[in-house]
Amino acid sequence: MNQDTRTAAEHIRESFLVFGAPRIEQAEIEEVVDSLTSGWLGTGPKVARFERAFAAYKGVRHVAALNSCTAALHVSILAAGLQPGDEIITTPLTFCATINAIVHAGAVPVLADVDPQTMNIDPNEIERRLTPRTRAILPVHFAGRPCDMDAIGDIARRQNLTLIEDCAHAVEAEYRGRKTGTFGDFGCFSFYATKNVVTGEGGMVITRRKEDAARVSMLGLHGLSRDAWQRFSADGYRHYEVVACGFKYNMTDLQAALGIHQLARVEDNWARRAEIWRAYNEGLCGLPIHLPPAADAHTRHGYHLYTILIDPLQCNTSRDAFLNAMTARGIGVGVHYLSVPEHSYYQRAMGWKPEQYPNAMRIGRQTVSLPLSARLTDDDVADVVHAATNTLAGLSGTNHSAPLQLCTEVDTASLSVPIDGAQS
Ligand SMILES: *Cc1c(COP(=O)(O)O)cnc(C)c1O
Repeated sequence: MNQDTRTAAEHIRESFLVFGAPRIEQAEIEEVVDSLTSGWLGTGPKVARFERAFAAYKGVRHVAALNSCTAALHVSILAAGLQPGDEIITTPLTFCATINAIVHAGAVPVLADVDPQTMNIDPNEIERRLTPRTRAILPVHFAGRPCDMDAIGDIARRQNLTLIEDCAHAVEAEYRGRKTGTFGDFGCFSFYATKNVVTGEGGMVITRRKEDAARVSMLGLHGLSRDAWQRFSADGYRHYEVVACGFKYNMTDLQAALGIHQLARVEDNWARRAEIWRAYNEGLCGLPIHLPPAADAHTRHGYHLYTILIDPLQCNTSRDAFLNAMTARGIGVGVHYLSVPEHSYYQRAMGWKPEQYPNAMRIGRQTVSLPLSARLTDDDVADVVHAATNTLAGLSGTNHSAPLQLCTEVDTASLSVPIDGAQS
């Protein structure tokens, strides 16, 4: 075996690369220990500190911490005053929580298909789905790529609709210099274990109006008129009053302890993911797969998900076979997402069919998310590239010595272009 064949030979990782494992450092650990020793585990001073830090990072004044983005979406819809039967237009290419929050709030989700290039909700499709009952638009900045907020904002203003942004992927993202979550009336963020800023479980709402943030906080803590930690403060006992039938959605100090230090490193982690993103673009360029769409010039991408598309006609293999083969090679992969109408509940309850949203359906059936955590080492990134390359060579049985040129950075219009054989 000469040197070259040895390098090309299969290299199996010693440990499984867990998809989405966060980068946790000593500062988070010490802050959690400090909460444990202080005896204050519930909603308290660290939540207030995390809220102030988040408001400063986003350049806003009104925020409310909660225990998830699902909760954030739910109470935002309620705080917006939507009534049962009101319609909210959103994307079929999202996590089920986006839809479930709408249903739990008593509103009716209406899907508008995504743009096949950007994978974000298509403003033209939003227009097509408007009815006299439409009250809100709920765009998701998919993978961290900002939606077309000029067009969506125009529709919302023209139709007098509430705008609620699902920013679960996009805490760092900007559109024309404006930060995500500040376009609409409510911006909802997730600090779930795999997201860009993690608290284990956690969420945040930012609002344009002060009274909306107060209402979100109130609904997130049983509908109490005052925060519990104010009640027990040193200035003397204060009675609370229940002013609405709220929910148990408050963030705890244990969670905020993580968030405070995670947020302090949000830009470092973003820069590392941008680096990994470029390494994937270079390492995977030339494989018969579609790479994720590059960020638009006037935007800042959040780099939350690196999603490739496995088109069975080009790869000679199915997406699911690719997922299994990557897992067997020790690489954790994800699917974001099967389109919402693929799930039996929504078919039964809403009557949705995947074919009604063909772009989201095709992406959902072809997409694979590669690991993109700031925790990845350069060796991890090289392992992912090797595993993907070897998987495609092994599964398709083809020789990629004359690779197809499908690098998205070079040719963003390639997605719907049929590939006819080798380009020699
Ligand atoms: C993760 C996620 C949510 C839900 O966030 P939680 O904090 O886990 O409730 C909602 N929308 C999208 C797009 C997500 O990725």
